[in-house]
Order: sequence, then C-alpha cells, then structure tokens
Amino acid sequence: MNTDLQDFSHKRFNILTGEWVLVSPHRAKRPWQGQNEAVSNEVRPAHDPNCYLCAGNTRINGEINPDYKDVFVFTNDFAALQTDSKTFSVDNGLFKAESEQGICKVICFSPDHSKSLADMAVKDINKVVSTWQKEYTELGSNDTINYVQIFENKGAVMGCSNPHPHGQIWSQSTLPNEIIKKEKEQKEYYAINKRSLLGDYLAQELEANERIIYSNNDFVVLTPFWAIWPFEAMIVPRKQYNDISQISVTESLAFADAISAITKAYDKLFSTSFPYSSGIHQAPTNGEDNSHWHWHMSFYPPLLRSATVKKFMVGYEMFGSPQRDITAEQAATRLRDLI
Ligand SMILES: [Zn+2]
Repeated sequence: MNTDLQDFSHKRFNILTGEWVLVSPHRAKRPWQGQNEAVSNEVRPAHDPNCYLCAGNTRINGEINPDYKDVFVFTNDFAALQTDSKTFSVDNGLFKAESEQGICKVICFSPDHSKSLADMAVKDINKVVSTWQKEYTELGSNDTINYVQIFENKGAVMGCSNPHPHGQIWSQSTLPNEIIKKEKEQKEYYAINKRSLLGDYLAQELEANERIIYSNNDFVVLTPFWAIWPFEAMIVPRKQYNDISQISVTESLAFADAISAITKAYDKLFSTSFPYSSGIHQAPTNGEDNSHWHWHMSFYPPLLRSATVKKFMVGYEMFGSPQRDITAEQAATRLRDLI
C-alpha cells in the first residue's frame, strides 16, 4: 500500500463519475464539537396499527394494504413522477426545461415492522432481490420508461419518515444526473478497452486486497477507492452484467448474502440500526446498446464516528469537492473485522 495515502492530504479520482474527492487523513483525530444526533434504539412492535405500510392498515389515500406475507409493492400515493402528466418543453433563450414522466413505487421488504434488511434471513432478502428484478424488467419494458432507480432511504437521520422496512423504485423517461455521469465514463472505457470499467477495477481491488470488506462466489463488497461517505460500501458482481435481471437464481442468493453481510456489519459498527441511503445503478432501459454497463449497488451512510455523530456535506463540500477524513482503507478494515 502507498503509505502516503494514509498520512497526507490528497485527492482521489472516481472512475465511475469522473469526479474527485479530497481526503485528509491527518484530520481524523480532531475533537468533535459539532451536532449530536439523537439515537433511537427503541424496540418496535412487529405490527404497528399506526403504520401506513403494515399489512391490513389503511394508507392516507384510503386504500387498504393486503395481508401480505413477504414483499409488497404499490404505486406511491404521493409520487414525484406521474405517467399522465403533460408533455412539454421550454426553450426560451437561456431558460431550458423538459417535462418528465414516470412511475414511482414503494416496496415493503417484510410485513414485520420491527425488522430491517440486517435482521432479515438471506432467503427473505432474496425475495426482495427477486422483486427488484421483476420491477426493473416490467417498468423498463414500458416505452416511456428509460431508466429505473431502485433505492432505500433508511433511518430518521436520512429523513426517512417511516421505520417500516421499505425502499422505493422511481422510474422515468430520461436519465438522472448520476446515471449520465456513469454512462459516459463506462461507455468511453468500454469503447477503448472492450472490457468493463468496473470489472477491471474489481480485478485491481482483489489484487490489492486493501478495501475488500466481504466476498462470496459471485459478489464482492468493498469500500471504493474514491469513497465519499465515511463508511461507504459498494457491492459488485464478479461477472459483468448490465442489469440486475441478468443474474441467475444462485447469484441472486449470493447477492442477498452480500447485502446481509454489509448491513449486519453496519449495525454492529456503532451498536445502532445503521442509517444509510442505498441504491442500484444499472443499465438504462432505453433500448440502446448498454453493453458497457456493469451494475452495482452502493451504500452511502452518514454516520462518522458514533451513532450520534454524522458527516455533513456543507461548506467546502457544497462549494468545492466532497471531503473525507478517515481513509477508505481504514473504513474497510473496521467493517471487515465485524464480519
Ligand atoms: Zn409498519
């Protein structure tokens, strides 16, 4: 390992987005005098009569949830995107706008209100994975849907309004910003090298063996070299697949196992139900040649040094670049030791 990376300030390049992150390892020891978050380690009931996602309960729009037993998907009652909205564009000098259409869904991971992915059995996480595959394929087959974003926002610290284990799927007619960046970098690399950018990166990571958190036959969990969030992690399939629908039944179970491993390690890290935003980046469903895509899942957790101290993306990070103190190698070591 290059020890300069552990001792001196530097910037690291994110090959997937073409952006830089500032790393300041010498700052990790500074005393914390900032905000402390409240921790809630309350034990939740398996069914909460006031939860709009629990089985059999009435949602705000009056619909009643079925008595579901594993995974339950419904169209978001307060969707950010709709299929029947007006199509228009504004091209007025320097004022530019485009209408956007889409379908937003909510996916309940379990009927058990008290659980999170970290508490669920691998076979039950696998049912969530199967649902993601089905939704990606179905939504993506819609002519007006050119991209499907699967994500989870977990924890009050992340602004998640309901503790019931659930995620969301927003699908839309155009590509969002993060996908446009990753599309560009992967496409350029594939055109020159005829190989997957992330596949070659994964080979180098396995060789270096400094940021690997966990691995099984089909998936590797690692802290990316260019991680921004203190305990950021990425799950990468060893084989290059463009999207989640292409993995086999065996690989789907291995993916569920990888999700289980990282979320359990997160919960152990600060002895708290670890908040994060996670999401899957995969090939657009625009009918174009997307053979350069290598799908992956990322976890962006905000906690920095305890259950109550989170990282803020403010100041320099708003006006300059993202910045981190603890190095990716230190973070990976701490998480790996918990598995
Ligand atoms: Zn609930």
